[in-house]
Amino acid sequence: MKVFKFGGASVKNAAAVENVARILKMFPKENLVVVVSAMGKMTNALEALVDAYMQGQLEMMQRFSEIESFHREIVANLGIPAGVSLERVDKLFAELKNRLEKPVSDNYDYDYDQIVGFGELISAAIISVYIGASGLENTWCDARDLVRTDNSYREARVKWEKTESLVRKKWDHIKQAGSRRVIMVTQGFIGHTDERNTTTLGREGSDFSAAILAYALNAESVTIWKDVPGMLNADPKYFSDAVVLRRISYREAIELAYYGATVIHPKTIKPLQNKNIPLFVKSFLNPGEEGTTIGSSTFSDSLIPSYIFKVNQVLISITPRDFSFVAEENLSELFSIFAKDNVKINLMQNSAINFSVCIDYNQKKLDHILAACHEKYEVLYNLPCELVTIRHYDQETISRLLIGKKVLVEQRSRSTVWMVLVEG
Ligand code: ASP
Ligand code: MG
Repeated sequence: MKVFKFGGASVKNAAAVENVARILKMFPKENLVVVVSAMGKMTNALEALVDAYMQGQLEMMQRFSEIESFHREIVANLGIPAGVSLERVDKLFAELKNRLEKPVSDNYDYDYDQIVGFGELISAAIISVYIGASGLENTWCDARDLVRTDNSYREARVKWEKTESLVRKKWDHIKQAGSRRVIMVTQGFIGHTDERNTTTLGREGSDFSAAILAYALNAESVTIWKDVPGMLNADPKYFSDAVVLRRISYREAIELAYYGATVIHPKTIKPLQNKNIPLFVKSFLNPGEEGTTIGSSTFSDSLIPSYIFKVNQVLISITPRDFSFVAEENLSELFSIFAKDNVKINLMQNSAINFSVCIDYNQKKLDHILAACHEKYEVLYNLPCELVTIRHYDQETISRLLIGKKVLVEQRSRSTVWMVLVEG
């Protein structure tokens, strides 16, 4: 059995959904788990809907209608035969509308997950109906019956054992019921708590969902169908000479993803590595092309330097006012300040009385950090910065990337150089 994941861009309109069916038909004998994202930019639209809901804005219903029309238009353009039931799609819109009539709770993240998760639910419902009508018999599964999580809304953590048993049971059940090859269509990004509340796994989390299901079912492979030809050594938006990395190791992929290669979600790799399941990143526009294979072999990792930019960074420099050593007295306190706001540290460095961290810029979190540090520490920060990570660097690549930039912090290991840069 293979797991296929189709992201938002691969299902952004009717033509794209038709293309999904075409790709599935290229694998006529395979049992497939098909994991889908919300269509196009619908997760952003749903986030805006959540904001309108929270603020009790009049435009909430307007936003809801826009989201509904977007999907209805795709359905209309798919030309689904009149006799085919769209009951599930209709029901989901009714449920979403009902949800918006409920009073706002005191937990933003909880409300967010209950509403934003509809993007994936509606998308999977439409895709399941359409591919079914085009001859691909399939079973729609609610991912909330499969992926069990804790209640860290918007960044839920998977309960692996429970999830594994739910997924296996469901899969065995579907297999027993069907005699031909099995296609299960489900949603990425969402899960469920023990109390049956919807959770989400973090933005772009559908890749991770695919890996979770693959792990639970000991899948043969996972394929992520993208609008790029594979994992590239640089962002093709900024570097026209970017090339596809044909074969890389799990380790290389996780490092690239962690430092901002947006092609795959960084959490995707661990479950696959743990079970040695290969991950293919392929183009949905040219599905016959080889793409990238991610697996255990590290053989090709160092052949091509890769560089990844994280923009919109802030470099914070913290010094104890009483001149105590940072490493001895202050680090644990500083880490707990960061942990409180779920701040992810992208790079850190310390000297005797200085601790510098580079983090994603978020004004609210920055304000919290400044307030929490103010009494004991002097805090300076640089904004905006970029963090560039170069794997398997050479001097030529470094020089090329530094044109017009000033280096604020630099760290090197044998395989990687990290630099915090500002214009100048
Ligand atoms: N639809 C969600 C998002 O846009 C999850 C995903 O696409 O992976 O973040
Ligand atoms: Mg996406």
